[in-house]
Amino acid sequence: MTTTALGIREYKRGLTDLGNGAYAWLQPDGGWGWSNAGLVVDGDESLLVDTLFDKYLTAEMLGAMQRAEPAAAEIGWLVNTHSNGDHCNGNELVTGAEIVASKACAEEMAHESPAMMAKLMAHAPEMGEVGEFFLHCFGNFAFEGIEQRPPTRTFEGAFDIRVGDKDVHLQQVGPAHTAGDVLAWVPSERLVYTGDILFIEGHPILWAGPVQNWIDACDYIEGLDPALVVPGHGPITDLRGVRAVRDYLVYIRDEARKRYDAGMPVLEAARDISLADYDSWGDAERIAVNTSVLYKEFAGDHGPNDTQALFAMMAQLHKERRG
Ligand SMILES: [Zn+2]
Repeated sequence: MTTTALGIREYKRGLTDLGNGAYAWLQPDGGWGWSNAGLVVDGDESLLVDTLFDKYLTAEMLGAMQRAEPAAAEIGWLVNTHSNGDHCNGNELVTGAEIVASKACAEEMAHESPAMMAKLMAHAPEMGEVGEFFLHCFGNFAFEGIEQRPPTRTFEGAFDIRVGDKDVHLQQVGPAHTAGDVLAWVPSERLVYTGDILFIEGHPILWAGPVQNWIDACDYIEGLDPALVVPGHGPITDLRGVRAVRDYLVYIRDEARKRYDAGMPVLEAARDISLADYDSWGDAERIAVNTSVLYKEFAGDHGPNDTQALFAMMAQLHKERRG
């Protein structure tokens, strides 16, 4: 497949035809909440990889998919790559589909709710610096009235789905970005939908870890030898994009470790790690979460994250970096 000749590297909002019944739905610039999704069609069967952050965005995407492929009117399988709302908040619009995710993803989803998000956003204007940051990240999305639709089928390890004559192989690689990250590999097209195991041209965010699982996930993708890689955020890529994320993870792990061993406080370390090589990547304040979660991992602390504190740190770095 001569990808450049087809122009599919173009990073344009909406549906990108990857050929032979495979599609990506892209939402530039790929920053906070602007996630990608995927569609695989064969004959009259179809599989959707992820829904979007709200119902308006998801409805627009489903409409475009149905115009491109009538089979998308009755999606049989919906895969949620992980539990973050920008990959599952639109599930209720995909009526009748079997919703499949890893067991760990389903468990994590049960602790996250769009209603809580709506409430948080309503209070954001009174929350000072962190409220401003919430609005910067999530102010463009509509969280009211979303009915959470959890997975109807869960698995651990791997799960194979047949879509017409095509195989779609789901592989659990988390905990990494979140507790239950899953990749969707379509061998006949040498195409992989990675969910948030890949952020392209944006800083990855390590909510769960261990970081080694995420590095291993990059190696696993490389081992598949894909021709086309659809990330969870950012433009379609190939192995170069996979290697860039792997290099970033190794770099921040090693840099955070040096500072942890030297006893440097976490926020100071997050400020101190040079991101000069990643200047063009968005959402650099995520280094605060990455450093914090790495410190936690180094300390052998398996407790839950203090999400509020993490957002407060990101808000501070975001403000500082903007000057
Ligand atoms: Zn995402």
